[in-house]
Amino acid sequence: MLLRIVDATVHYKKVAALKGVTMGVAEGGIMTIIGANGAGKTTTLRAISGLAPLSGGEIWFGDRKISGMAPEKIVALGIAHVPEGRRVFPDLTVEENLHTGAFLRHKEPEAVAKDLQGIFERFPRMRERRKQWAKTLSGGEQQMLAIGRALMAKPKLLLLDEPSMGLAPVIVQEIARIVEDINRDGVTVILVEQNAELALQLADHAYVLETGSLALEGPAKELHENDHVRKAYLGG
Ligand code: ATP
Repeated sequence: MLLRIVDATVHYKKVAALKGVTMGVAEGGIMTIIGANGAGKTTTLRAISGLAPLSGGEIWFGDRKISGMAPEKIVALGIAHVPEGRRVFPDLTVEENLHTGAFLRHKEPEAVAKDLQGIFERFPRMRERRKQWAKTLSGGEQQMLAIGRALMAKPKLLLLDEPSMGLAPVIVQEIARIVEDINRDGVTVILVEQNAELALQLADHAYVLETGSLALEGPAKELHENDHVRKAYLGG
């Protein structure tokens, strides 16, 4: 396992958003967490990236215990987080946004410049728009920019929070292809989605969270055929 979450609990004030959850992702895999609004999916990603402190349990990245570490340290170890709502910097250009993703790599400007070209090859529209303010991009383009910015940190593990949210079906398919390509290039992915159909298509392993607890887990193909999953998350 590249990442292991062991019996993790997260509280917001007195409310437990995550209650003793154990899950993991194998190196090279795509793991998904599905669940209803408020189930704890976002909280799980925030716990991994150090933004939501654990009140119990541990998180391991390879042989390093990362729970308790500062978020920058976790990024430096190779975990990049694309938050919900594709938060790009609206008043920075596309290119400037991409540079912010490499903020910890200031000692390797040549490698960063080369990676920027790599991002432009993966997202040709980002190259076309590199001098435009991020706020002028469409929703789908902003999502691509947010993913591109995370890739500029050279992550081993990419955390994606609801990348399909609010996007037209054709754009969602484009994002799905991008996630597959990134994974094929060797980046392990944890995908949080309310679009369970899409998530189970993309992932090899899946976890279902219900009000902060793990309800089910298994190979994504099996969960796709599971009666409870079909009824609760796949529209019957
Ligand atoms: P969504 O799809 O709506 O983001 P989710 O599965 O990602 O849902 P979380 O955002 O992780 O769920 O929320 C889990 C629980 O924690 C919910 O009950 C939510 O109201 C609560 N919660 C989340 N963030 C905070 C916060 N900053 N302060 C207090 N409670 C919070």
